[in-house]
Amino acid sequence: MLLHLCTWPEVESYLEKSSGIILPIGSTEQHGPTGLIGTDAICAEAIAKGVGVATQAIVGPTINVGMALHHTAFPGSISLRPSTMIQVIQDYVTGLSKHGFTRFYFINGHGGNISTLKAAFSETYYQLAQINAPHADKIRCRVGNWFMCGSVYKKAKELYGNKEGSHATPSEVAVTQYVYPEAIKTAPLDDNVASGYPIYGAADFREHYPDGRMGSHPDLATPEHGKQLYELAVKDLSNRYLEFLNQD
Ligand SMILES: [Zn+2]
Repeated sequence: MLLHLCTWPEVESYLEKSSGIILPIGSTEQHGPTGLIGTDAICAEAIAKGVGVATQAIVGPTINVGMALHHTAFPGSISLRPSTMIQVIQDYVTGLSKHGFTRFYFINGHGGNISTLKAAFSETYYQLAQINAPHADKIRCRVGNWFMCGSVYKKAKELYGNKEGSHATPSEVAVTQYVYPEAIKTAPLDDNVASGYPIYGAADFREHYPDGRMGSHPDLATPEHGKQLYELAVKDLSNRYLEFLNQD
């Protein structure tokens, strides 16, 4: 069930059976010369929808813009600052908790979101306790990173070896190709790709990663790989979501 396609009475009756919600979170940032700007949001949204169907969970609106400050020297990249993102997450969780949601499962498509999400969870627990929110101590937030699922990681290694890299990876590009075959892009890619430099500011990032890739060879991606990776991620995260719901 997608929250934005539900009516409030439907949400009210859902809450009689479950207090869990899945929230896809991605990023709007450059993904090399052939990867879509929306790659991280597209992957998170598609996989979250799949998990929602498999587990009968409500899936909230995709948080399309994440923490991607270091990509913003490339045209089209948008970022929230960590402090802004923390407030966004707090407002989502605090608002939905008033209706009875207690388990918030963020299906994440962007590595750069992880530390800010975890900080946001701590800030949210603190804020809920400060305002004496009902059931404040029962609110639980968790992040599920689809690209870090064991089965996905193993499949990506098998398909791409060390050509997977760490940004604009063939595995994430493959998932977008599976979801949007009409938007597959091609461009000449240099076999020599930058990797291994630490991440600082946006201008410095662009200087060290001139075409936006980080050690990756996204030209290896195919929609068929994307289907396999999508199915593995949905299976793994569905199990993890159900475990999360059933834990105290
Ligand atoms: Zn990405």
